[in-house]
Amino acid sequence: MDERTYDVVIVGSGPAGYTAALYASRANLDTMVFQGFESGGQLMLTSDVENYPGYRDGVMGPDMMDDFEAQAVRFGAEMRPDNVERVDFSERPFKLWAEGEDEPVLAKTVIIATGAKAMWLGLPGEQRLQGRGVSGCATCDGFFFRDKRVAVVGGGDTAMEEALFLTKFASEVLIIHRRDEFRASKIMLQRARDNEKITFLTDMVVEDVLGEDSVEGIRIKNAKTGEKRDLAVDGFFAAIGHKPATEVFEGHVETDEGGYIPQKEHTMTNVAGVFAAGDVSDKRYRQAVTAAGDGCRSAIDAERWLESQGEAENAEDPAVWIAAKEMQEDPSQPVR
Ligand code: NAP
Repeated sequence: MDERTYDVVIVGSGPAGYTAALYASRANLDTMVFQGFESGGQLMLTSDVENYPGYRDGVMGPDMMDDFEAQAVRFGAEMRPDNVERVDFSERPFKLWAEGEDEPVLAKTVIIATGAKAMWLGLPGEQRLQGRGVSGCATCDGFFFRDKRVAVVGGGDTAMEEALFLTKFASEVLIIHRRDEFRASKIMLQRARDNEKITFLTDMVVEDVLGEDSVEGIRIKNAKTGEKRDLAVDGFFAAIGHKPATEVFEGHVETDEGGYIPQKEHTMTNVAGVFAAGDVSDKRYRQAVTAAGDGCRSAIDAERWLESQGEAENAEDPAVWIAAKEMQEDPSQPVR
């Protein structure tokens, strides 16, 4: 059995996971990242990212994730492109099993950064046109629909919020909901109803998203009469909720009714030594930059917690400027 025990094992490879890896490895902590089969997280489904600070001309989501990964690797973080299938947090060292493996990876601390995914309707066109007019995030992609007509599917607060945000750019926003009653709060619903750019189409089910290379329309069916028709739209936003990727941790760490992992003390979960960062515990902001910030916090918290346990002999506080590293002779070489 591999008796190596990592200081920090990070599960997830979006902005939160990679930033945690950068901070942890740069602080001399022995760090490993389970990237998962879909490494890079939700940004791999996004095209242009224009609201991440530091990229003056914007950046493609997958390119940005390549940069995040390379920066963490530069400081020695080990990457494993595997999914975690099972965990045991009942005693330390914590145990995490990669899919299909019998021997666990051992960890002094764990940072869970598996993110959350927008839920999709499961339509063929929805998959085919991801990032080409199909989106699960108005804040991320609304800007690209200036003076366009877009459809938002859903009848909850997320749908109202996304639709209202989109009115800043789009010329017309259609809210398409499968019933004529709404889960959305009264105030959000009223705000949407009061907005003259928003049109409600109720009792309507979306059957498909149309278009070859980009979204050109949607096919909807009246849930009561069965009548079908095609509507021309340039954008399609699924706003039927989010689901955090926490199945594998259920029963091992506290989750709330929506499956999110609450941060109890700074970024620490209810299990001492297990931390959560990014969208996996954030239903409110869901931005790459907030997730990255949270990843940073979690690595600092993990290091300080190890320190408090007397288990961080070689580590340096990640929050401290490390002058020696900055002054290395050849900056193109790995630091270790
Ligand atoms: P939600 O309240 O569960 O609403 C999901 C909506 O999507 C429902 O209207 C549902 O229709 C519809 N839906 C689900 N699956 C569908 C499918 N396959 N096809 C078509 N429609 C489908 O989820 P949410 O809007 O994401 O809100 C989640 C929680 O976050 C809520 O507590 C909400 O208040 C909160 N939230 C708050 C804010 C805010 O206060 N600013 C913003 C966003 C979210 P049915 O109604 O027919 O089931």
